[in-house]
Amino acid sequence: MNRKIIKNVNILTMNKEKEIIENGVVAIRDNLIEAVGGAEILEKYKAEEIIDGRDGILMPGMINTHTHAAMVVFRSLGDDVADRLKKYIFPLENMLVDSSLVSLGSRYGIAEMLLSGVTTFTDMYYFEDEVAKAAKELGSRAVLGETVVDFPSPDCEESYGGLGYAEWFIEKWKKDELITPAVAPHAPYTNDSQHLQNAFLLSKKYNVPMIMHVAEMDFEIEKYKSEYNMTPVQYLDSIGVLDNNFIAAHLIHVTEEDINIIEKRDIGIAHNIGANSKAGKGVPPLKEMYGRGLKVGLGSDGPMSGNTLDIITQMSLVGKIHKLFNKDRTLFPAREIVEMATIGGARALNMDKYIGSIEVGKKADMAILETSSVNMQPIYDYYSTIVYSANAGNVDTVIVNGKILIKDKNFTEFNFAEVREELKKLREKIKKTAEKLV
Ligand SMILES: [Zn+2]
Repeated sequence: MNRKIIKNVNILTMNKEKEIIENGVVAIRDNLIEAVGGAEILEKYKAEEIIDGRDGILMPGMINTHTHAAMVVFRSLGDDVADRLKKYIFPLENMLVDSSLVSLGSRYGIAEMLLSGVTTFTDMYYFEDEVAKAAKELGSRAVLGETVVDFPSPDCEESYGGLGYAEWFIEKWKKDELITPAVAPHAPYTNDSQHLQNAFLLSKKYNVPMIMHVAEMDFEIEKYKSEYNMTPVQYLDSIGVLDNNFIAAHLIHVTEEDINIIEKRDIGIAHNIGANSKAGKGVPPLKEMYGRGLKVGLGSDGPMSGNTLDIITQMSLVGKIHKLFNKDRTLFPAREIVEMATIGGARALNMDKYIGSIEVGKKADMAILETSSVNMQPIYDYYSTIVYSANAGNVDTVIVNGKILIKDKNFTEFNFAEVREELKKLREKIKKTAEKLV
């Protein structure tokens, strides 16, 4: 048995009552939260380790509900290219993506997420086994889905090879403490209905999530309108692949009827406003979806799309863009945005029973934001400070599954400098290949 105590912190519990405990104390026993309260905990429990939070803000670890971490190796490439996915990203990936690139990119991307207080992330990419190994090496919690597409991909020579890979991958990781394996058909337009149904059967067989980009692209909307006179959400519902294990990224172009379907099927929503605004794709009707009590979490999308992996940046954008779009400054008070970043994300992933809030019995996944940096004072409202004043660089301490991974803004064990040097070396190779595409 190992016990740690964190003292001298202002705790945003994100429990049902949204309780805030100033000058609070948390006891962690092994990988679980044992006690949450005030000074009485210090008297009641003896600990091997006492962490002084130095008047910081302790919050549940943030949850990134949609990314492609390894794509960090391509960050800042071709940012302003038109029709970027088909003309740039897919060809680039086919030329360059291999297991060593995914391994390196994942280690770098997961490091960036942990340093910013993200303790659980959802990823879909190729060679997802490398992402799982990287998450284990760094100690992050993750929901990982192998990509399925209707063309040969970097890790499968045959179209739809991702389905076979996914089954092998799910079998391999299904019992892991930190990894939740999943299947991830890339999008409705890169899979036919038969294979989407096969992916769904796989998710049913193993009771694992099915992750997909949905209602993101203009051409996607036009395709389903002309071929089926349906929206992508209606089409997916008509072929029977939507249920509460389904995590949909984006959902930008959705109608009132779509929102009814999303509610009825209890789908998780990964809202990626940073990437969506940068691509000029549109603003999803988040006001309606959140207002209906749907399972809304926040995502960064891949760092080639959104250029960041942290959730603090997303929170600020969620507030600003939706207020602007709706011309309503009262929309989404900061507390609701922190909720989406924590327990909301946990609900979207169906993991809210054991992560997403600081409550006794939950997994000890949490982050401390220091409050001594110039941008952090004064504090009148902790939620507003996190959403509008803080940045990823204010995250000081990060704990996942009871283990201290980041302390004083640095890794306790992982050698980040080594990975950064490897990434710089890979940049030369990627640069040469990318030049051929422009
Ligand atoms: Zn994506």
